[in-house]
Amino acid sequence: MFDFHIHSNYSDGNASVQEIAKKAKERGIKRIAIVDHSIELSFGLDEKKARMREKEIELAREIYGLKIYSGIECGINNFGEIFLPDFDFELIVISVHEDAHNYFERIIECIENNEVHVVGHLLSTMFEFIRNCELEDIFLDKLEELGIALELNSNHRCPPDYFLEKCKERKLKISIGSDAHRLEKVGRIEWSIEKAKKYLWCAKFLEL
Ligand SMILES: [Zn+2]
Ligand SMILES: [Zn+2]
Repeated sequence: MFDFHIHSNYSDGNASVQEIAKKAKERGIKRIAIVDHSIELSFGLDEKKARMREKEIELAREIYGLKIYSGIECGINNFGEIFLPDFDFELIVISVHEDAHNYFERIIECIENNEVHVVGHLLSTMFEFIRNCELEDIFLDKLEELGIALELNSNHRCPPDYFLEKCKERKLKISIGSDAHRLEKVGRIEWSIEKAKKYLWCAKFLEL
C-alpha cells in the first residue's frame, strides 16, 4: 500500500524525511510521497528548501529501500490559482485551505489550467458546504477526462460518503493519504482503505 500525503519538517510536519521513511517501513508502506505545503504559506517549501529536501529524500531511498516521491501540496486561492517553486516535483496535490467560496468552480479552474496529479481532501469538514449536484458531476467528469486522482484523506476523513456514493460507477484514479503532520500518523491510512473498498471498485490507484 502507499501513503501519498505526508508533511515533513520542511513545512509544518514534526518529523524529518529520515524519520518518516523509517516509520513508513515499519508500518509496511512501500511507497510514500512527501508533500510539503507550497509557497502560498510563509513556512512553505521554496526552491531552496525543495533542493535540500531532495537530498534527504535521495538518502532515505537508499537507506530504507522505499519509493519516496518528492511532492508538494498547493493551496488553491480564490481565483483557482496555485503557486509552485521552480522545482521538478513528482507529485502535485492541490487542496482548498482558506474558505469554501466557489469551491468546485475554483478546483475545476485549477485542474483545467495546471498539470497536477491529485485533488486533496475534497469536501473536508473544515468547511460547511451547500451541495450542488450539478457541479459535483462536472467536477467528476473533469477528473476522469484529465486523469487526475481523487484523494481519500484519512486525516480529514473525506470525501464524505454521499460524494463517494456518486463515484461508484466511475473510472476514477484514486490516491491514498494519511495527511500526516506528526510522525505517528505516517501510514495511518485505514480510513482511506475502508472507503476505497466500499465505494471505489471501478477506480484505479494512482501510479507514479
Ligand atoms: Zn491540505
Ligand atoms: Zn496536507
